[in-house]
Amino acid sequence: MDQTNRELDKTMCQHPWNSVAVRPNGLVIPCCNFSTVDPTLSKSWHTDSKTHQDFLNSKPWIELKQTMLDGKKSPGCVICWNEERVGGTSMRMYSLPPDKKYKTMNDPNKIEILDISFSNLCNLACTMCNRQYSTTWAKEDYLNGRLDKLRDSVMLEPEDIISKIDLSNLQVLKTFGGEPMMDQKRFIRLLDSLDRSKLKLIIITNGTQLPSPEFTERMLECSFVDYEISLDGLEGTNNWQRWPGKFSTVVENMKHIQEMLRGHRNYKMTIHSSVGAYNVSEFPEFVLWLLYEFPEWRHHVDIIRHPVVQNISALPETYKELLAERYRALTIRPNAQNQVDVYRLILSWLEKDDGVPAKSFIEYTEKLAKERRYDLSQLSYWNQIYNHYLDSQ
Ligand code: SF4
Repeated sequence: MDQTNRELDKTMCQHPWNSVAVRPNGLVIPCCNFSTVDPTLSKSWHTDSKTHQDFLNSKPWIELKQTMLDGKKSPGCVICWNEERVGGTSMRMYSLPPDKKYKTMNDPNKIEILDISFSNLCNLACTMCNRQYSTTWAKEDYLNGRLDKLRDSVMLEPEDIISKIDLSNLQVLKTFGGEPMMDQKRFIRLLDSLDRSKLKLIIITNGTQLPSPEFTERMLECSFVDYEISLDGLEGTNNWQRWPGKFSTVVENMKHIQEMLRGHRNYKMTIHSSVGAYNVSEFPEFVLWLLYEFPEWRHHVDIIRHPVVQNISALPETYKELLAERYRALTIRPNAQNQVDVYRLILSWLEKDDGVPAKSFIEYTEKLAKERRYDLSQLSYWNQIYNHYLDSQ
């Protein structure tokens, strides 16, 4: 097969050859965008927890490569396809070599990008997350009878997986949660084993904890730093979605990080927002606030797909119509990463009917708020959403 074949431009991605993402539950996947929400798919991407042998040459990796080489779209790559559908530049597209000389099945894996979760230790239980990625969620599940024993929440720790990967070609180290700032000692150990002068470091953090002096020293030695903080909305909206985090703490920490990175020769600061049914109403106001208060920060936006009950499409129909009208009229866009037209992407979800009844969304939210003793009147637009729901009954 001619590996410069133009057809392959539409399906190829270099990540199954050059990238690994390790998750605290033992999932080892090609990148952070890769979706394994289908339980059968998810199982097949777990490494053998005893040996972790040769997972880069295991069946799902080989099948994914073959699917791409056959010019087909893998269901696991849905996030990239959705971004491309609305004219964005997906992670897949960024991965392609300019000369279009694509890898073949005979090319060995050469890991240049490592995306690592050190554990599921996390001080937050964000609404869209779960106990596999957060010990706070595990505790909440235990206290509410959804988990028999708290120790069931202890996740695999990934050093033994990393030790099976040849990192001599590593160029990019990216951290994911749990919360990496709660695992700084392990993070430092990994950084100490790498050539930091050639390393691009991407930190994805919930922004509630600052790096220690020891960590900061190593971070500033890296050739490039992208500090990415998760923030989903203003005050009450963020505090609900990133529970029990505090908007004001994260804002103070953003100022600190900004000052700290100004001394670095090569850096980027990014806000990461997950947009779903809770924050989509307020999101344009949040975007304006960010553009005004933190103009140097880029904005990376993900659409919440799971749990489905928190999808934008789960909002009451009449409310979605109203919101879609508002979104169509917006002119100021976020300072978006990847040139994705975020508002077009959101509109596509507002126009979607995923079959999730608004009733499920309302009941789920009320139950969670009760567990968390959260007053939903603090969540912007909740009363309007609720009234539209009542009118539809
Ligand atoms: S196409 Fe997208 S989701 Fe699939 S492996 Fe590449 S970057 Fe990851």
